[in-house]
Amino acid sequence: MTMYEIITKKKRGIELTTEEINFAVDGFTKGEIPDYKVSAFLMAIYFKGMTPDETAALTAAMVRSGDEVDLSGIPGIKVDKHSTGGVGDKTTLIVCPVVAALGYPVAKMSGRGLGHTGGTLDKLEAIPGFNINLSGDEFMEIVKSTGICISGQSKNLAPADKKLYALRDVTATVDSIPLIAASIMSKKIAAGADSILLDVKTGSGAFMKTLEESRVLAETMTDIGNNLGRKTEAVITDMSTPLGAMIGNTLEIKEVVAILKGFRSDLNKDLVEISLVLAGKMLELAGAGNETKCLKLANEVLESGKAFEVFKKMVKAQGGDVRVIENPDLFESSAFTETIYAPEAGYINEMDSEGIGMAAMLLKAGRETPEDKIVYSSGIELLAKTGQKVEESEPIAVLYSPAKWLIREAKEKFLDSVRIGQQAPIERILVY
Ligand code: URA
Repeated sequence: MTMYEIITKKKRGIELTTEEINFAVDGFTKGEIPDYKVSAFLMAIYFKGMTPDETAALTAAMVRSGDEVDLSGIPGIKVDKHSTGGVGDKTTLIVCPVVAALGYPVAKMSGRGLGHTGGTLDKLEAIPGFNINLSGDEFMEIVKSTGICISGQSKNLAPADKKLYALRDVTATVDSIPLIAASIMSKKIAAGADSILLDVKTGSGAFMKTLEESRVLAETMTDIGNNLGRKTEAVITDMSTPLGAMIGNTLEIKEVVAILKGFRSDLNKDLVEISLVLAGKMLELAGAGNETKCLKLANEVLESGKAFEVFKKMVKAQGGDVRVIENPDLFESSAFTETIYAPEAGYINEMDSEGIGMAAMLLKAGRETPEDKIVYSSGIELLAKTGQKVEESEPIAVLYSPAKWLIREAKEKFLDSVRIGQQAPIERILVY
């Protein structure tokens, strides 16, 4: 078997065998197959796609390339959750404490944000002292003692994916559904959960901009998980507008704390609704009952404040300063703020998530490249959301910035992302 033959087969659209896929992935990971051959292979996949069996084989090969987390020491069904990424998406920090508060263990490895999207680890690191670099033993110990731990991925998790992603990034082959699905699922499967819930975002701020593409990605990922012995389900949720009112790391932790303490408003109801649906689905996958029962359980535990107590326990166990969680006014505040006013009266027809995510990135709430440093206190607070009626010059957002000069470009980007019309827009569908 040679890489030349494998590329030729894929180029002609002939299904590859598991052995051929293993040959390519193993050889590339070990450095035995050069980048130029794998680049051609990736481009052939980009144009010809992959069958469900090929995609599952690719994922399995990437899982085997590194360590697999063994969660068998934690009793019960372990359910993981993955979001394909969005703007203001802090659902993990609401959903996981809800699930853990009901006695279902959450052993979760999360990632960082890039570009206009935020990452759970960055949000958690906005809490002074919070440690996401845990050893395998520390991770297991915290799950056993508090029922929940959210950490960074162990270094040797799916190394084939890291190498392949770096090559995809420079060969214009990132946006291939089988490659995206295999990449995401390899890390989820290696992270050891029994069941996986996927929150596939759709809309301008999402990786997949249309519902059709999001459906295909959701189906491809659920097929992989189920093919590889993990019960996997997906929910497609709206990412046309940022979730909740806060975008930026400290701001998002403040919003999570407020919601866990019971604060509800028109600005956070989309976030609360989607979080409850996801928590209900995770509970269903954990065997807590049917959809209606699990949604009710999730709602009750969120209202009861028990999820907040679990969140605090997790922060404490991971070295974070609980005082800022109990009193979020103690968080370091931003050096500069600027209020943005509605340029005209009418209904907000659009608050484009991608554009608002980019505006937050310009304020240093996110990274343009993986090396960039984040400013935790930066970001955007929305004072109005899509569908709301506003008067001319009514405040619609506040920008938080570490430097005055960053505000001008971010403000322009923000205003470019907001469209006001004279007709109310049709109501957003939050969960498809
Ligand atoms: N996220 C991943 O982990 N992999 C991809 O290929 C795309 C998004």
